[in-house]
Amino acid sequence: MELFERIAAMRAYLAEARARGERIGFVPTMGFLHKGHLALIRSAREDDEVDRVVVSIFVNPLQFGPREDYRDYPRNLERDKKLCLSGGTDALFVPAVEEMYPEGFATHVEVTGVTDILCGRSRPGHFRGVATVVAKLFNIVQPDSAYFGIKDAQQVVVIRRMVEDLDFPVKIKVHPTVREEDGLAVSSRNIYLSAEERRAATVLYRSLKRAEELVVQGERNGLRLKRFLEDAIGAEPLARLDYAEVVSWPDLKPLNELRPGQVLLAVAAYFGRARLIDNLLVEVKA
Ligand code: AMP
Repeated sequence: MELFERIAAMRAYLAEARARGERIGFVPTMGFLHKGHLALIRSAREDDEVDRVVVSIFVNPLQFGPREDYRDYPRNLERDKKLCLSGGTDALFVPAVEEMYPEGFATHVEVTGVTDILCGRSRPGHFRGVATVVAKLFNIVQPDSAYFGIKDAQQVVVIRRMVEDLDFPVKIKVHPTVREEDGLAVSSRNIYLSAEERRAATVLYRSLKRAEELVVQGERNGLRLKRFLEDAIGAEPLARLDYAEVVSWPDLKPLNELRPGQVLLAVAAYFGRARLIDNLLVEVKA
């Protein structure tokens, strides 16, 4: 596995691979890798449409709000390197902030509409930061395929919109959410949780599963489902609800009435200082 810190060196390596006709699979991450990231890396490695697997690790300051955890965000490059290698990574791109945003940097990518709700509403500027860094990374790596987790469902929608609108020649591939045995979605931020908060955090997935069950049993009222999720999470004393929403997929519009097709149940809550998100894509039968 090769490691690159400079854009020019990363590009030179990839130009050589491409000249040999190799196709690039790309997994962008913020590091502190866990089995969710590893699942993305493995699916790139096993993809018949990919010859070279590139992983990036970059804690992107643009996507953090002023009172968010940019400074404290967990980092462990030595461990990440080993995990990348074990997952079959060929090249690891780890640029410094100054490499990505040198002095004078002044261009941003803003996806409108689908960013008005969910995390876009709670974290103003977050998706502008995400779209900007992913656009830059796509231009640097020029992948044929890029891998994202549905755990960040709104991010998937934003990236797909950007790719379509700005004609990036990249196939977006989406991986299911990797969970702990008790259902908690694996996240780098789970490290912030105390033992009690860790136990309490399972309320997110439990509530989503119960809401899904209500849909299976015939519930079609979006507002009632939203209230159900709010109450279920609100009943956990260690949880501070950020939002619970029932929205259409993939355009993320709040639903009063569920129609046949897919709907997204999405929740976010604080447990101590950890802000955790989770979601379920639910099939609504006719
Ligand atoms: P992050 O490092 O948190 O920015 O995540 C990098 C990529 O890994 C994103 O596409 C995430 O959606 C994905 N990811 C994070 N956690 C999980 C998980 N538990 N299961 C699947 N994918 C995940």
